[in-house]
Amino acid sequence: MLEQQWVNICTYLEKEVGPSAYKSWIIPLKLYEIEGSVAKFEVPTVFIGNWVSRNYGQKIYDGFKKQGVIIERLEFTTPILTKPDDKTISVTTESQEKTFENKVGVSLPSSPLDSRFTFSNFVVGRPNELAHAAARRVAETSAVTFNPLFLYGGVGLGKTHLMHAIAWETKNRNPNARMLYLSAEQFMYRFVQALRFKDMHGFKELFRSVDMLMVDDVQFIAGKESTQDEFFHTFNALVEHGKQIVISGDRAPGEIDGLEDRIKSRLAWGLVVDLHPTDYELRLGILQSKVEVQSKLHPGIFIDSGILEFLAHRISSNVRVLEGSLTRLYAYASLVGRKVDIDMAQECLADILRISERKVTIDEIIRKVSDHYNLRMSDMISARRSRVIARPRQVAMFLAKTLTSKSLPEIGRRFGGRDHTTVIHAVKKIEDLKHKDLQIAEEVEILRRMLEA
Ligand code: ADP
Ligand code: MG
Repeated sequence: MLEQQWVNICTYLEKEVGPSAYKSWIIPLKLYEIEGSVAKFEVPTVFIGNWVSRNYGQKIYDGFKKQGVIIERLEFTTPILTKPDDKTISVTTESQEKTFENKVGVSLPSSPLDSRFTFSNFVVGRPNELAHAAARRVAETSAVTFNPLFLYGGVGLGKTHLMHAIAWETKNRNPNARMLYLSAEQFMYRFVQALRFKDMHGFKELFRSVDMLMVDDVQFIAGKESTQDEFFHTFNALVEHGKQIVISGDRAPGEIDGLEDRIKSRLAWGLVVDLHPTDYELRLGILQSKVEVQSKLHPGIFIDSGILEFLAHRISSNVRVLEGSLTRLYAYASLVGRKVDIDMAQECLADILRISERKVTIDEIIRKVSDHYNLRMSDMISARRSRVIARPRQVAMFLAKTLTSKSLPEIGRRFGGRDHTTVIHAVKKIEDLKHKDLQIAEEVEILRRMLEA
């Protein structure tokens, strides 16, 4: 009897609240008893109980009324989080606080943290300053200010680095904090294992016992329904108890296909910050900081700033690739025992450079440079050697060498059939002048920006 009535009420509620809210909030309710005018439900989390009571309470009363049952109070019980002697949480009284107990002593299946991924090793620039500030805030304040912190951005922009940094910093500040960092994939793996070994209770308890939960690459659970479901409940339980959650994804919550709407909206509740693609300055800063580390490992090898600038210009895809290319350069240099110069860098990193090549053409370079210096394009490729023309021509050759992957002979050919040694000379000359002559340095920089824009 009770069951049939509840089915009817559900049908009514589905029409009233819409299919999506119905799925998120009504389906999880299990009506197990009606005692007098009190309807008692079992719910996965206290949060859901509160939410339902606040937002759908009246509708539920109406539903009962339509079935001829007068209900005056709704009671919600959570099966897992409560102590046995205090099983019932009534949302009409405010007794739900302290039912959430930490299971101290249970070891957490946290993934190992990379010791290099700390705040001190994270180089801050315009593209990542907001994400960095938010991560620091989460690590440094014990009060939960935004929950969750959602970090997103493309591959290799530092999401995992920042999450580990939060974990390290939190550990430093509070060695007893129970922190769980894992990828969404591992979350799913644990969930599936729990199902298989019929230990959902243990799973839930474990995940609900932490002070901070960090889930990396959440897009992984897109399209995986029951994992999402469990994730949703874990998430709610923790938020509700003021535990910090940090999530990363490859795009904004709303844009992750295959993620349920209720999860998307949940993820966007706190602070959503993105890591923008790196800019030249940030890439250069990262390279400089990595060189500091590498130069200790390879004391004999010297990579000068010109090479770093070259790499920062040419490898814009992601930081992982940038780091990889530097490591490769060091290895290469230590093998061949030569000083690292641009030619060597180009040779050693040919594959990477080809992939990250921007489509700047020599024609464009010639056009922009001659515009900039008020010259005719024909001057650039002419045989004239007067300085007003020769210097801009050298700048153009330098840009052709650093912004395209054309060979020296090819560049020479395009500049009026000059010899490749002329191009080498031009590149050296401008590299040299950039250090000595501020105006040249600025001009080259402006031209580069215009060409790369
Ligand atoms: P994601 O998780 O976003 O794919 P990672 O955090 O794994 O990227 O970063 C890729 C690599 O780049 C790591 O080795 C990381 O240390 C490095 N990295 C990324 N951003 C920075 C930065 N701002 N400063 C220093 N290293 C960085
Ligand atoms: Mg990552």
